[in-house]
Amino acid sequence: MGKVNTVLGPIATEQLGITALHEHIGFGLPGCDLDTKWWEARPKMLEVTIDKLRRFRELGGQTIVDCTGIGTGRDVSYWQLVSRVTGVNIVPMTGFVSGDTVLPYFRDKSIEYLADLFYHEITVGIEGTNVKAGAIKVGVSRGGLSELDERVYRAAARAAGATGVPILTHLSINGDRQMDLFEMEGLSLDRVVIGHSDGKEGLDPERDFRIAKRGAYVGYDTIGFDTEKGTPEVPAPFWARPRGERLDQVMDLFNAGYANRAIISCDANCFPLGWASTEHSVSELLEIFVPDLKARGVDDETIKMLLIDTPARFLTMRDPQPKLVKAAGEAAAQV
Ligand SMILES: [Zn+2]
Repeated sequence: MGKVNTVLGPIATEQLGITALHEHIGFGLPGCDLDTKWWEARPKMLEVTIDKLRRFRELGGQTIVDCTGIGTGRDVSYWQLVSRVTGVNIVPMTGFVSGDTVLPYFRDKSIEYLADLFYHEITVGIEGTNVKAGAIKVGVSRGGLSELDERVYRAAARAAGATGVPILTHLSINGDRQMDLFEMEGLSLDRVVIGHSDGKEGLDPERDFRIAKRGAYVGYDTIGFDTEKGTPEVPAPFWARPRGERLDQVMDLFNAGYANRAIISCDANCFPLGWASTEHSVSELLEIFVPDLKARGVDDETIKMLLIDTPARFLTMRDPQPKLVKAAGEAAAQV
């Protein structure tokens, strides 16, 4: 039987249910956790976060994957509380959101060192706890893949192969190169989602087809960042899109027969730690996007695949690949 790591320990694949694969309890830029105003706001944070996740649970949602990497608001003991109170499974991540959010301490580390860091967080625990990561986050820096990004990608591929967890990426810019890096490290592309393929940045519907054809997943995972929600006081963020335009893009891939290569999620921050956000919640996946898909003729079987079957197959830990385990083991011996 398959299993997936959550903040409350590993669970069976069958317990995942309706899953949003790219979400955040609270994301902020490195250092946000040292800003005293978030500590003052703690009761409010908890209230807002619990309300949003309870709503998701009421609508049938059972699991979120928190895509906050190391040093950007990740807080597993807080998430354990949130998970216990709301009944929503929370899958935590190792890795970094992108090279430009890597804390200075880690910036000059080798691929081997970074692979071992991720391996440790997946097999032993995060930040001195026994909470094990269930996936790895990597991403593209502003301006395109940097040398540091590439080191993080290669390290993530090695740790993913050695542990059997999947990888989610931030941004679809340089998507072909992202896939090349994983393949060069021997990782099967069905363990990878190229994220934010529906965001305004780096939009390239042709690339979506290349991702699907190479066997990776296309991340339509900024659902709900709609330009229509912007106001003069709080404009929509620069990656927002008109709601119908995003839907057109998704339907083009589905109509070509690739719905089984898609991931859908909201990238909503329950409580953004100083990070830009519209009024946005993971519940929109079920309250707005699924009805939008149905109105375009997507059948119930496909909806079930998108919400349950694909996330379950993707998240379930695979058997470790011996060659990559050896690489990670050798790295461990060097530290
Ligand atoms: Zn995200």
